[in-house]
Amino acid sequence: MARTAVRRRLRWRLATVATNTSEARAVHRLSLQIDDWDGHLPGQHVDVRLTAPDGYQAQRSYSIASAPESPTVDLVVQRLDDGEVSPYLTDGLRAGDRLELRGPIGGYFVWHAELDAPLQLVAGGSGIAPFLAMLDHHAATGSGAPARLLYSARTLDDVIGRARLEQHSARGIGVTIALTRQQPPGWAGLSGRLTPQTIREHVWPVDQLPNIFVCGATTFVEAVADSLVEAGHPAAAIRIERFGDVEGAGRDSGVPTTRR
Ligand SMILES: Cc1cc2nc3c(=O)[nH]c(=O)nc-3n(C[C@H](O)[C@H](O)[C@H](O)COP(=O)(O)OP(=O)(O)OC[C@H]3O[C@@H](n4cnc5c(N)ncnc54)[C@H](O)[C@@H]3O)c2cc1C
Repeated sequence: MARTAVRRRLRWRLATVATNTSEARAVHRLSLQIDDWDGHLPGQHVDVRLTAPDGYQAQRSYSIASAPESPTVDLVVQRLDDGEVSPYLTDGLRAGDRLELRGPIGGYFVWHAELDAPLQLVAGGSGIAPFLAMLDHHAATGSGAPARLLYSARTLDDVIGRARLEQHSARGIGVTIALTRQQPPGWAGLSGRLTPQTIREHVWPVDQLPNIFVCGATTFVEAVADSLVEAGHPAAAIRIERFGDVEGAGRDSGVPTTRR
């Protein structure tokens, strides 16, 4: 049974675009209908494959941004103007278009709703994507795990899933947003890049034994993880997902000042 399930996940299949909507500056949410989808866990990702008329193929990974309870599998894609794949996904796809995809992939960077330890999420840029799935799943399951999100973005217009995050905040999730480049008048969140000190202040204390997830560009993720370990969090409690060194995934959206 396990082998069959793995084969099904690694098989390329067709997804149909239900909607393609703007989610933040240069970020679109693709809601996909996938026949015979076996379900997923929050934190997993899919691989998307594009094929040109001459047979050239390009493949990229995208976190699933919707909860397992959602009727669609959603991706939030940040458009990199000079990127090969992301501009096509954000600007080239319309409702009814079809897309090759395989997944869900990954068993490590996942949050299980039955865990009641405090949940700590730290995102840079589009690294918020898997956390949108985790927080929606937290809400859908009525999880009792106290949860906090520390999210670094450039400006308010770059905050992905802002309205949904406000709803999570209203139901008691600790949502702290750091804007690195520009803050609107009266901004009550953090300003500037995350530092070891802001990380210490806004992440669950070490003695609360939080499950910590960090996601974004490689440099962001590694610097945050270093700060967390320096603050005393056991490395085994920290799970990281690197989106690569891609502009927009957090490389320039809030790296702490200490390095390894
Ligand atoms: C597990 C995982 C999950 C991910 N989830 C998401 C997600 O939810 N949302 C999301 O937006 N992204 C996500 N990503 C990133 C995504 O896979 C792509 O890397 C991203 O969309 C960029 O792809 P692209 O083809 O548009 O850009 P690419 O063409 O791959 O280019 C990426 C960057 O590299 C630069 N570059 C390319 N080639 C060169 C070169 N030869 N020399 C120097 N620089 C170069 C480009 O200028 C560009 O800035 C995820 C990545 C991983 C690994």
